[in-house]
Amino acid sequence: MTDATQPHPLLPQLREAVHGGLPSAISDLGNLVRIPSVSWDGFDPAHVRASAEAVQALLEGLGVFDSIEIADAPIDESRTGQPAVLATRAARNGKQTILLYAHHDVQPPGDQADWDSAPFEPTVRGDRLYGRGAADDKAGVMAHVAAIRAFTEVAGTDFDLGLVAFIEGEEEFGSRSFENFIVRHRTRLAADVIVVADSGNWDTSTPALTVGLRGNVTFKLRVSTLQHASHSGMYGGAVPDAMLATIRLLDTLWGPDGSVAVDGLTSREAPTPEYSQDKLAEEAAFLPGVTPIGHGAVLSRLWDHPAITITGIDAPSVVNASNTLVPSVTVKLSARIAPGQTADDAFDALERHLRAHAPFGAHLELSDVDRGNPFLVDTAGWVVAEAKDAMEQAWDVAAFETGVGGSIPFISDLVQVFPQAQILITGVEDPDSRAHSPNESLHLGVFQRAILTEAVLLAKLEDRT
Ligand SMILES: [Zn+2]
Repeated sequence: MTDATQPHPLLPQLREAVHGGLPSAISDLGNLVRIPSVSWDGFDPAHVRASAEAVQALLEGLGVFDSIEIADAPIDESRTGQPAVLATRAARNGKQTILLYAHHDVQPPGDQADWDSAPFEPTVRGDRLYGRGAADDKAGVMAHVAAIRAFTEVAGTDFDLGLVAFIEGEEEFGSRSFENFIVRHRTRLAADVIVVADSGNWDTSTPALTVGLRGNVTFKLRVSTLQHASHSGMYGGAVPDAMLATIRLLDTLWGPDGSVAVDGLTSREAPTPEYSQDKLAEEAAFLPGVTPIGHGAVLSRLWDHPAITITGIDAPSVVNASNTLVPSVTVKLSARIAPGQTADDAFDALERHLRAHAPFGAHLELSDVDRGNPFLVDTAGWVVAEAKDAMEQAWDVAAFETGVGGSIPFISDLVQVFPQAQILITGVEDPDSRAHSPNESLHLGVFQRAILTEAVLLAKLEDRT
């Protein structure tokens, strides 16, 4: 057992090794960014395969794994998921096994014109590396690789700690084969500690351990009132059009301050770090005079309360608008679910609310329901204490425990298949990383500190019996 209050004896050497290895880590990361491994339908899967092969080569170069393979699993009877890389090294002498997770696929780049440098051409400007996947999550992949490099440079390759690297290839497309994958490969994936390096830090000088994730429920909602469109001059005023019904119905989802007003969607009470409304307005780029929605501490609104957003509407476009009463409208509803509630339960509450509030007898049809459960880390476990201590040693500042408003739905699959494992959600992002957006970037100082954190954690686990 290590003494959590003392710097690890290998810290100075690990720091040196991480520092010395940083240029090659950045260059290897750049090579991964050059591969446009978009995992979505309609993008060439050959790039995802090439990126899996590049990751495999990086893991082979470490010389610590007993087996490394590119592996996949079915999504359903007709389709196979994108290739992941799975590498294992058996634990010896009763040591723990640690699983390192990241993903090598990326989001589409969007409109290239919105980028200041080409999305798949890694570019350093100031202290940041720009490119699609430079942060999310190829930097997570490289943080694992570079941490193992530094650890073995200092401790040698003859260590006892069990290691698993699981680098997924379709996280950005909903991890659709994830559950089948972890069931199929459960023996090789089994670990005592799971590090999911796909989240962010408080800022570029303060590390964070993510301890809560909201879940999500999304679906299409079709609101219909008429069998066909009719003339708005002839019938408007007596005939309920679907747009009116939709607007009225959607408005019932929120209270006057914009907070969610759906019975049965729950919130959670937990302390949150200080974060002002002004900071929110600045980081989320409010226009002048625009005010936040909801109430209570800002971060509890983002981490511990539900949220509902209408993310799309199918209705006649303005350019095609004629003087007609619209017979049906479809919207995409995206809800964020507070930790403590299941996605199934939240969907039931939403459906009940919508059906109870449909105006004018409008017909509702809910389809394409997608559910991801929220997640709370058990912060009482020894692993959380060790991880926060490793962060403090690497960053010279205490770590925050943070929530995340977004979801990592596969984490609840992990918990289900490996209920005894302790899960750590770490990451290389910071508030300016802009994952999924144009000009995505990685802060190189954060990258270095994240690598050192993980190298220290490996050393701590190797000490532990
Ligand atoms: Zn990610």
